[in-house]
Amino acid sequence: MVVAYIGLGSNLEDPLDQVQRAFDELDSLASTRLLKRSSLYQSRAIGPEQPDYINAVAQLETNLAPLELLDALQTIEQTHRRVRLQHWGPRTLDLDLLLYNNETIQHPRLSVPHPYLTQRGFVLYPLADLDPNLHFPDGKSLQALLKQCPFEGLVRLPENRQPA
Ligand code: AMP
Repeated sequence: MVVAYIGLGSNLEDPLDQVQRAFDELDSLASTRLLKRSSLYQSRAIGPEQPDYINAVAQLETNLAPLELLDALQTIEQTHRRVRLQHWGPRTLDLDLLLYNNETIQHPRLSVPHPYLTQRGFVLYPLADLDPNLHFPDGKSLQALLKQCPFEGLVRLPENRQPA
């Protein structure tokens, strides 16, 4: 079993519901268990004018190989009838494999750690909910990256809008 971290994002068709359902679907994957879910955050979209995102991160324990896990994430995205008309455009559900067992993977379909991981507050702050002492495969600490990444543009949803 290895630990993997998945970034979840949605800004269309009831994003809160999309993300809540995705947590359950991740927990239902073969050979996989959802260990922890971060708080939910609202973030301003990057790119063209579009609604704010709901973001979160899931910590999984899995026996799936990295590409099997990517396939499974893409299947979940498709069941959410993912709409993706333009690069950086709005989407019903985006699932990114952020970290896989402290491994570095360079494959035509898969880059791990995920390329935007080190710069995006909507990934770094939810990761800190799950494991504030996390280190990346290159040895950098999550805490060091957080110091360079302002909380700006990000809102932790109030308790009454967090999942029960
Ligand atoms: P996007 O939907 O914009 O996040 O991009 C999806 C594409 O990124 C897919 O074709 C994946 O094969 C590729 N990809 C590369 N690395 C990753 C990763 N770590 N997690 C998810 N998708 C990835």
